[in-house]
Amino acid sequence: MQQYDIVIIGGGPAGLAAAIKAKEEGIDNILILERDKSLGGILNQCIHNGFGLHTFKEELTGPEYAQRFIDKISDMKVDYKLNTMVIDLNEDKIITAVNDEDGILEIKAKSIILAMGCRERPRGAINIPGSRCAGIYTAGTAQKFVNIEGEMPGREVVILGSGDIGLIMARRMTLEGAKVKAVVELMPYSGGLKRNIVQCLDDFGIPLKLAHTVTKIEGKDRVTGVNISKVDDKMRPIRGTEEYIPCDTLLLSVGLLPENELSRKAGVKLGVTGGPEVDERMGTNIEGVFACGNVLHVHDLVDFVTEESYNAGKNAADYIKGKKVNKEVVELIPGNGVSYTVPKTIHVDNINKGVDIRFRVRNVFKDKFISVYFDNKQVIHRKKRVLAPGEMETLKLAEGMFEENPNCKNITIKIED
Ligand SMILES: Cc1cc2nc3c(=O)[nH]c(=O)nc-3n(C[C@H](O)[C@H](O)[C@H](O)COP(=O)(O)OP(=O)(O)OC[C@H]3O[C@@H](n4cnc5c(N)ncnc54)[C@H](O)[C@@H]3O)c2cc1C
Repeated sequence: MQQYDIVIIGGGPAGLAAAIKAKEEGIDNILILERDKSLGGILNQCIHNGFGLHTFKEELTGPEYAQRFIDKISDMKVDYKLNTMVIDLNEDKIITAVNDEDGILEIKAKSIILAMGCRERPRGAINIPGSRCAGIYTAGTAQKFVNIEGEMPGREVVILGSGDIGLIMARRMTLEGAKVKAVVELMPYSGGLKRNIVQCLDDFGIPLKLAHTVTKIEGKDRVTGVNISKVDDKMRPIRGTEEYIPCDTLLLSVGLLPENELSRKAGVKLGVTGGPEVDERMGTNIEGVFACGNVLHVHDLVDFVTEESYNAGKNAADYIKGKKVNKEVVELIPGNGVSYTVPKTIHVDNINKGVDIRFRVRNVFKDKFISVYFDNKQVIHRKKRVLAPGEMETLKLAEGMFEENPNCKNITIKIED
C-alpha cells in the first residue's frame, strides 16, 4: 500500500491551494487525486471573468485563475494523479481509488484533505411535472457543453433558478446566439450576486421573474415549452397565473450540494450545509481529516475558497508535525436570520490573530445589524444596508474578544434591528 503524509481528494482550486500551503509549510510527501483529466476543477468551464479580485487584485477568467495554482503545483513538484476517482475512504485514513493505469489503488495517508467540491441538484430533486423529453439540462452541464465541448444545447431557453450559475448561463447562451426568454426564480429575491444580476441579465434585457416557478414541461421528444406560474408566500403555485413560454431548452440552476458521499462513508460529521462541520483549522471530527472549498459550503467567490484552503493546508501540515490542540472548544450558533457558520467550533488555545467566520443569512434584510454575542455579552453590532442569502458574509473575531471573555461557551451570530 502506498503511503503519503497528506492526500488531497480533488484538484480544484481548494485542493490546489491546500497542497501549495502544505508544501510551503515543509511537507514533501503530498498527493492530489483528481477524477478529471486536468487540474483546476469547475474553474476550467468558467471562462467568464470576475475571478481573483481579492487574491490577485485582477479580474481573471476561471481557467486563468486556476492556471496560476497549477503552475505553482508543477514548480513545487507536488505529485498528482489525474483520471483517478476516489471511491472509498475510511476512518483509518485508507483511500481506495481507481484509474486506467493502476487499476484499484489503496493509499494510506497520515492526513487527508477533502476538497471534492459540490454538484448540481438535478430535475429529480425538485419534481417538476411534465414529460421526460430531451432539452432539460442543469446549468453547469450546459456550461460544459458550450465552453468545453463547443456544442449548443438549444436555441430558445428558459432558466429556472437565479443563482450565479443560472445568471452566468443566461449571458453565455445569449452571447452564443440563443434567445433566453426568462430566468424564473421561486424566491422573491435572486440567489445570485448583485453584480451578476446587473451584468448577466439587466445588460442583455433578460427578464427575471421573481416568485415564479416552472409548473409543467411540455414536449414529446424535445421540450416545446414550459408553463410558469406565480407562487404565494408559501411557494405554492397560484391558480390562474399560468403563462406558457415556448422554448426548446430548460436549464436548471436550482442549487448545489457538497459532494459528501466519501465524507459520510469515513464517518465525518456533516452539518446543515450538507458538508462537514469543521473547527477553525478546517478540521473535521476525525483527527487529521480536514475539508475546504465547496465540499464544505458553497462559495460565490473562489478567492474565499483559496483563503480557506490555505488554512486547511497549513493545519494539515501542523498536524503532520505533531501540533496538538486542546480538546475544549467554543461552539458557534447561527441565531436569528443566520443559516450556518463556518467554522462551527473554535479551539480558543489555537487562535492566532483572530478567526474569520463565514456565514449566510436566511432571507433578504435591509438596514439591519449583524450582532455577535459571546454567551450573553454583545461584542459586535454592525450595521448592514443589505444582507442577502446569495452573498456570503465574513466577520473577523479578534483575538482580544476571546481574551476578554475567557470562559465563553457559545458564540451566537444573529441579525437584529
Ligand atoms: C458556474 C459557476 C460560476 C462561478 N463564477 C464565479 C465567479 O465569477 N467568480 C468567482 O470568484 N467564483 C465563481 N464561482 C465559484 C468557484 O468557481 C468555486 O467556488 C470553486 O471552483 C470551488 O472550488 P473547489 O475546489 O471547492 O471545487 P471544484 O472546483 O468543484 O473542484 C473539486 C474537484 O474535486 C474533484 N473530485 C470530486 N470528487 C472526486 C473524487 N471522488 N475523486 C477524485 N476527484 C474528485 C472534481 O473533479 C473537481 O475537480 C463559480 C462557480 C460556478 C459553478
